[in-house]
Amino acid sequence: MRGGSKSIRTEDKHLIEVQNLTKVYGSKTAVENVSFKIRNGRIYGLLGPNGAGKSTTMNIMTGCLSPTEGTVLINGYDICDQPIEAKRQIGYLPEQPPLFTDMTPAEYLTFVAEAKGVSDELIDRQVKEAMTVTDILSVKDRLIRNLSKGYRQRVGIAQALIGNPPVLIFDEPTVGLDPKQIIEIRTLIKRLGESHTVILSSHILSEVQAVCDRIIIINQGKIVADELTENITRVVESNRRFQLKICGPQKEVLAALKSKPGILHAELLSGRDGDAYTFLIESEVGVDVRKSLFYTLAEKNWPLIGMEALGMSLEDIFVAIVDQTESSGRYGYERKGGQRAPRRVRAEHEVAKTITEKKKGAAEEEFSALFSDDDEK
Ligand code: ADP
Ligand code: MG
Repeated sequence: MRGGSKSIRTEDKHLIEVQNLTKVYGSKTAVENVSFKIRNGRIYGLLGPNGAGKSTTMNIMTGCLSPTEGTVLINGYDICDQPIEAKRQIGYLPEQPPLFTDMTPAEYLTFVAEAKGVSDELIDRQVKEAMTVTDILSVKDRLIRNLSKGYRQRVGIAQALIGNPPVLIFDEPTVGLDPKQIIEIRTLIKRLGESHTVILSSHILSEVQAVCDRIIIINQGKIVADELTENITRVVESNRRFQLKICGPQKEVLAALKSKPGILHAELLSGRDGDAYTFLIESEVGVDVRKSLFYTLAEKNWPLIGMEALGMSLEDIFVAIVDQTESSGRYGYERKGGQRAPRRVRAEHEVAKTITEKKKGAAEEEFSALFSDDDEK
């Protein structure tokens, strides 16, 4: 069951609509004309570097901060005009969760339930449910101050679950956790995504890739991409860039790589492994050079002893997308000092172009079709 209060607009395809949001702090524009839509029952990632405007956006969406301009509709309720109804739809884990560290999780969650207006007869059940889902029953009577960061974060998530809101918003939920805790929290978020619409923010590309169905990329207060994760993953993991270790005369090998059809760029990297040299190659879009490369090298009698696919980092994606959007003038981004983008990301520009071109509209229908089956859930 999704939420206590019935949606007033169940026919709406979008659970959340963020429209032309702008937030100005003094002379600083933290968020500028941001719009996106969130559909029911998915996990969304708001991805961007520090200072991009993720927390500002989330704080406005959850009614913790008022926008300078723009509107946020949650399940049809305006967060500014109907804050009580709108907030009832949302469970929020802010960047700094407001935990009362002198309370135990059980006490704290009971307090939160009361504050959220959960009726007395439901409080115990809801608190127990939230503790069960987040797996904190074993620490429920310890002081929060004595819990590990991982457990504290679970308490923060449990707090968001109280009141059974259909939407969960988590601001950088894995920040400061160790690798094991990160995996546990990601698993928990994925599980919550089976029964909730979840929006999480992160500055880590691989994190949103691992958890989210759709990724909204924000940079310098503006949305630069809004795309299905699989499409971004295709870009990131496209078999386009490889690090090769080849035993053979370095100059000749490099020349052979450079002249090979399908290879856009080849360079020698530092780092020797015995008699093998390390090269970086970048292939044309849609060309998988691996097999033919193997035969070419075998023919020359140059053993290939290593081939590692190099993904794109978040930084690469930004350079690519920003470069693309900059040249099309859509986002008015100015590159610092007029530097050129590094050569190694040149090929990604084309892929970024497909992302940004898709944004221009044609793909909207395509994406809608993917979602339409389960919108009525
Ligand atoms: P993120 O969460 O993506 O790291 P934030 O939304 O916290 O980014 O911040 C976006 C920008 O707004 C940053 O440049 C930040 O310094 C600025 N900012 C955030 N809060 C305030 C504030 N209260 N006063 C002035 N500037 C702020
Ligand atoms: Mg933040």
